[in-house]
Amino acid sequence: MKKIYLSILSLFFTAQFAFSQTEYYFPGEKFDPEIPSPEEFLGYPVGDWHTRYDLIVKYYEKLDELSDLVKLETIGYTHEHRPKVILTIANESNMANLEAIRQTQVQLADPTQPKPNVSQMPSIVHLGYGVHGNEPSSAEAALLTAYWIVAGQSELAQRVREESVVLIDPTLNPDGRDRHSLWANSNKGFPPVADPLDREHNEAWPGGRTNHYWYDLNRDWLPLAHPESQTKVQWYHQWYPNVITDFHEMGTNSTYFFEPTKPYGSENPVVPRKNYDEINPIFADYFAKYMDEIGSLYWTKEVFDNSYPGYGSTYPDIHGGLGLVFETASSRGHLQASQRGDISFAFTIRNHVVNSLATLEAAIDNREYMHDYLREFFETAVAEGRKDPAKNYVFGDEYDESRNRLFVQFLLDHQIDVYENNADLRVGNNTFKKGKSWVVPTAQPQYRMVRTMFEYVKEFADSVFYDASAWTMAAAYGMPFAAAPSAQSGVEVKEVAKPVFEFPEGKAYAYLIDWSDYFAPKALYELQKAGIHVEVVNRPFQSQTQEGAVDFAAGTLMIPMGFQKIKDTELIDQLKNIANKNQQKVYKVETGLNLSGIDLGSNSVGAVQQPKVIMLVGPGVSSYEAGEIWHLLDSKVGMPITKVNTDDFGRVNLFDYNTLILASGNYNSLSNSAVEHLKDWIQRGGTIVSLKSASLWLNRQGITNESAVELEEKAEPESLPFASSRDFEGAKAVGGSIYMAELDLTHPIAYGYQMKNIPVYRNSNIFIQPSKNKYLTPIRYTENPHLGGYISDQNLEKLKQSASVLISPSGRGRVVHFFDNPNFRGAWFGTNKLFLNAIFFGNQMD
Ligand SMILES: [Zn+2]
Repeated sequence: MKKIYLSILSLFFTAQFAFSQTEYYFPGEKFDPEIPSPEEFLGYPVGDWHTRYDLIVKYYEKLDELSDLVKLETIGYTHEHRPKVILTIANESNMANLEAIRQTQVQLADPTQPKPNVSQMPSIVHLGYGVHGNEPSSAEAALLTAYWIVAGQSELAQRVREESVVLIDPTLNPDGRDRHSLWANSNKGFPPVADPLDREHNEAWPGGRTNHYWYDLNRDWLPLAHPESQTKVQWYHQWYPNVITDFHEMGTNSTYFFEPTKPYGSENPVVPRKNYDEINPIFADYFAKYMDEIGSLYWTKEVFDNSYPGYGSTYPDIHGGLGLVFETASSRGHLQASQRGDISFAFTIRNHVVNSLATLEAAIDNREYMHDYLREFFETAVAEGRKDPAKNYVFGDEYDESRNRLFVQFLLDHQIDVYENNADLRVGNNTFKKGKSWVVPTAQPQYRMVRTMFEYVKEFADSVFYDASAWTMAAAYGMPFAAAPSAQSGVEVKEVAKPVFEFPEGKAYAYLIDWSDYFAPKALYELQKAGIHVEVVNRPFQSQTQEGAVDFAAGTLMIPMGFQKIKDTELIDQLKNIANKNQQKVYKVETGLNLSGIDLGSNSVGAVQQPKVIMLVGPGVSSYEAGEIWHLLDSKVGMPITKVNTDDFGRVNLFDYNTLILASGNYNSLSNSAVEHLKDWIQRGGTIVSLKSASLWLNRQGITNESAVELEEKAEPESLPFASSRDFEGAKAVGGSIYMAELDLTHPIAYGYQMKNIPVYRNSNIFIQPSKNKYLTPIRYTENPHLGGYISDQNLEKLKQSASVLISPSGRGRVVHFFDNPNFRGAWFGTNKLFLNAIFFGNQMD
C-alpha cells in the first residue's frame, strides 16, 4: 500500500451505507478496508447520481495513489479536452513486469516471431464502457468493477489479479457522458419520477449518445475521424487484448442482451467462424450463469449487428480477440417505469457489473485457449492472404497528394503494411504511377483489415441491416485502386512525409493554385480570411509558369496582383505561409495571355465569394449529418459555421449569409413567415445546400419542383406471416451502400476532379429524377452502379434512373441537392470536395 487513506471518522460515516451497497452489487464479497469503495469516495451510493466524468477519473487517481496493483495513464484528450484514461490492474509481480508482458503479447500477435510460451502469459482483458454517453450505467459499473478487482478478497478476485492484466477504459465517450449526466442529474426529482414522459427521461436534441461533433463513436473504430478513437486504436495495437467488452443500454422495456449475435446475417465476413461458432458460446455460458444467479432476464442471437468493422465489439474480432457487446434495459434517468415495474439506475448498473465479472472469469478460465486463438488468427491471416488471388492491392491518386497521404497514414494507423510502388502499372482503366501510388500485399498479418479496406461485398446472408452494409475504405477515400498480382513492392512506408514546395520568386502578374488537392479549399478560405482577392478560372487553359508550360483544369484558383487591397509584400508573405502550411503548390505567371485556352481576364473567370454559412439544427434535423458538416468545416477547412436552432430561425436575417445548409430532416416547425423569408432570400441569389429528405421539404414548400422516380411497383403478396414483417420490410431499406457515379467534369460541382467516375455513399431511399434542364444533373449513377453493400433489385432499378446531385435554380439563387451523403462518418474524403464546391462555387452553378 502506498499510503493509509481513511480516517476513523470517514469510516464511521460510510460504514452504514457500505453494507447495503456492496451486498447489492457483490453479495458475500469481502473487501480490503484500505481501499475506499466508490460510494465512500463519492459520498453517495453508486446509482444515486450520474457520476461526473471528472469524478470517475478522480476515483481512479485515488486507486492509483493507494494501491501498487494499479496504474492510471492518460492516452489522449477528447475534443472538449477531457482526458482519455486507461486503468491497468494486476498483481504486484505482473505490475512489475508490465512492459515485458505487453511485449510478449505483441510478439504473440506477430506470426513472423517465435511463439511465446502461452502457459506463462496472463490473459489481457480490456473492459471498455460507455461509448454512448447516454447509456450511463456502464461507467458506474466500471467504478464498481475496478474496486472489486483491486480490493475484492474472494478467490475469484485474487485469481483475476494473478492470471490477467485488466485494462479498463471507464468511458469511451467522456464528452457525451457529461452532456447526458448533466441532463439526468439536473432534472432529477425528489422522490424520483418514474413516468417515462418526465423531462428527466427525454433529453434535449442532440442528446448525449454522441461526441462533441454529434458522431456515434461506436462507428468510429474504423474511420478514426476523432481523437477518442484515434488514441484508442493506437493504444489497442500496443496490447492486442484477448477479450474486449463494450457495454451499452437499450429500451427500458427490454431485458439484457449478450453475444452470440444473430448467426451469419449480423456477422462480419472476414472474421473466422471459430470466433462465432466456438468461442462466443463458451463465454455465453458464463454470462448466463451470472445472470441466472441474480434472476435477471436476457436474450441472445436475435439481432444486434456485429458486421460493421467500426464497432467497438467488431474491431477486436478482426484483430484476434473476442469483442463482446452487452446491452441492458435502460432506466435513462434514475428510475423509469417499464412493463416489469420500475427500473432503477442501480439495477442496470448491477447487470453490467455481473457481466464484467463473468467476462473476467471466462477470460482467465480460457486463458491459454484465447492466447492460442490470437496466434492462430494472425497465422491463418498470413496463410489466407498468401492464397488470395489479388496478391496485392495498388492505389494512388495522381492528382491529389494530400488525399494520398491521408489514406496511407490511415492504413498505417491500422497497422497495415504499405510499400511504395516501384514501377508504372496499368490495371484496367487506371494507371498507377511510380512515386504516386502504393502497394499493399495481401500476405500480411493484417490481411483481414486489408480486405476491409479494399474489398467490395455484395453477397449477404440477410437483407436487414442495422447499419452500413459496405465499408470499403479505399472507395471512401476516393482512391483509384485495383487488385494487381504483378505489382512490385518497393520500400516499406514507415512514416508519411509532407511535401515542401518552393515558392516562386520574382514579380508576378498573377498566382495560380490547382484545385485538385484535398486541402485546396482550406488554403482558399485562409487566403480569403487574410483579405486576399481570389478568382476562379472556369475553363481549362495552359500558362507559361516558373516550371514552363503547365496545363490547368477548370476550377483553378487565380490571385491577380492588380486587384488587391493589401500591399504586394504582405500578400506574398501571407500566400507563401498559407501555401506552405497546407502543402499547396503555387504557380507564378508573368502575363495574362495564356498559351492556350481562355486568358486570365476572360468572362469565364470570376471572383470567388467568401462563404458565410449558416446551418439549421435542432429537433427534426439529423444530428449525424449536421455534425459531419460541422466537423468537416472545422477540421478540414477551418471555416466557422453558424449553427442556428430551428426555434430561433425567426430571428435570422438570411441576407447576412450567402449559403444555407439543410441536413436531412423535416423543417415543418418553421413558421410561414420564416419560409417566406427563405423564398425571398433565395430569389435574390442565396444558395441552399440540401441533403436528401431536406430536398423533399423544399419541394413541398414550392421552393423547388423536382420529381421522384416512379416505377410500376411489383405486386406484393396480400398477406404474409406476422413474424416475417421485420425481414420483409427491412429488405426495402437502403442501409448504407456504395455506388459508382459519373461526373460532368465541366460543372463547378466537379472542380478538382480529373476522373469521370466516382464512388458515392448512399443511405437513403429517396430517388429523384434528373433535372428537366439537361445541364443541371452534374452527378448521376452509371449504368451498372452497384459497387458494394446491400440493395434490393427494385431499389437498384430506381437508383439507376435517379440523380446523385442536381441543381434547382430558383430566381437568382439555387438549391444544390445531394441525394447521397458526401461526408459520411468523416470517412468519405473522396466526396468531401463535391460538398465544399457547393459552398465555394454555389453561385457559379446555374
Ligand atoms: Zn449503445
